[in-house]
Amino acid sequence: MTATLIDGKAFAAKVRGKVAGHVTRLKEMGITPGLAVVLVGADAASEVYVRNKGKMTVEVGMASFEHRLAEDTQEDELMGLIDRLNADPEVHGILVQLPLPPHLNSDLVINAIDPAKDVDGFHILNVGLLGTGQRSMVPCTPLGCLMMLRDHHGSLSGLNAVVIGRSNIVGKPMAQLLLGDSCTVTIAHSRTKDLADVVRRADIVVAAVGRPGFVPGDWIKPGATVIDVGINRIEAEGGKTRLVGDVDFAAASEVAGAITPVPGGVGPMTIACLLANTVTACCRANGLPEPEGLTA
Ligand code: NAD
Repeated sequence: MTATLIDGKAFAAKVRGKVAGHVTRLKEMGITPGLAVVLVGADAASEVYVRNKGKMTVEVGMASFEHRLAEDTQEDELMGLIDRLNADPEVHGILVQLPLPPHLNSDLVINAIDPAKDVDGFHILNVGLLGTGQRSMVPCTPLGCLMMLRDHHGSLSGLNAVVIGRSNIVGKPMAQLLLGDSCTVTIAHSRTKDLADVVRRADIVVAAVGRPGFVPGDWIKPGATVIDVGINRIEAEGGKTRLVGDVDFAAASEVAGAITPVPGGVGPMTIACLLANTVTACCRANGLPEPEGLTA
């Protein structure tokens, strides 16, 4: 391996340390930042995410409010809860764990959250603010990627960035953030022609596809920085499973200048950025300055 390993686990610990510092200062002013997480149904993966989020929220000194609703919860009941959380002064961040059961309209539910408390950054107002370069709540996964890129490169200005994937959760906001940092941005997707060629021109590659090892090493320009967002569970020896990214890590790390591993790259940064967004929301709600180093 010749590439520098971008250690998301260590970086996330640093971000959480910064968050904890801000929480301490807020508590000294009599303010405790609070994050409410709403889980509808009993999806196993969502259960794990929600448990981890609650644990880390408490670890940084914030208040954690978990709301678990039955799988067959009706829209009006969920909307009622969101209204109460919107009005609750102890709640600065609200996260509705996705996916919701199919009978619930997630767009409607997300857009019912007070945009100032929308720590996932999925509310249509925050999407618009980000798209127009205004202060917003930024989706956690792309924010984590941006933080790692800024830390590694310093300035991103003028670099060619290719984002593979155009989802609302990762690809599109990632592209907006890179544009905001003056990269020349290409968004590639399932209909992109000559993807190998497009990727070979990139100084920065962000892969958010959801296919194990989709990006081979020979697509990577020598010295490029590779951020692997993919989380894919594959069969491993002995009937076990293991997590891999969207990039062929072994091959890409022989060519790239820097690369994030999976696991231990983008994943830990996502929860750290959720906590960062909650502190940001809390500071804004109280008319305090933006917490340094935690926003886009
Ligand atoms: P998604 O399924 O919504 O989007 C995938 C994107 O990949 C689509 O826009 C599609 O156009 C593109 N794509 C599919 N096939 C392609 C192809 N052959 N060539 C080029 N592009 C192609 O997925 P998502 O929610 O954006 O997530 C992507 C990956 O990131 C998944 O593995 C997911 O688990 C992971 N993820 C990780 C985190 C984290 O915290 N690390 C957070 C969110 C998502």
